[in-house]
Amino acid sequence: MDCVFCEIIKGNIPSTKVYEDEFVTAFNDLNPQMPVHVLIVPKKHIASANDLTEEDAVLVGKVFLAAKAIAEKLGLENGYRIINNCGEDAGQTVKHLHFHMLGGKSMGEKII
Ligand code: 5GP
Ligand code: ZN
Repeated sequence: MDCVFCEIIKGNIPSTKVYEDEFVTAFNDLNPQMPVHVLIVPKKHIASANDLTEEDAVLVGKVFLAAKAIAEKLGLENGYRIINNCGEDAGQTVKHLHFHMLGGKSMGEKII
């Protein structure tokens, strides 16, 4: 399987890790869109949010608990935004489920 995030998780591709536990790893995005732009990635290879199954329900909760820990570690006391791009219309480019965690300055206008 040719998956860049699986290779990062295994340590075969370098990344700047900011958090890791049994379920997820999180590292800085290569092309940051905000002062803080972290990718929170479940260690299990799941292609997209549409490929989640009932057995992954706890895993998704672990992603948000990781976000809370990362926010504390990186000093995001003013808040942050989490985005998941699922599928073609959303522009998902890496087919391994991941959540963009953005923060570090006010994001201004909201899409929703
Ligand atoms: P998507 O568009 O699939 O939601 O987001 C994929 C994200 O992965 C992009 O923001 C892109 O910059 C990031 N990315 C792609 N390849 C790598 C890589 O090898 N290392 C890191 N750290 N980020 C990557
Ligand atoms: Zn993968």
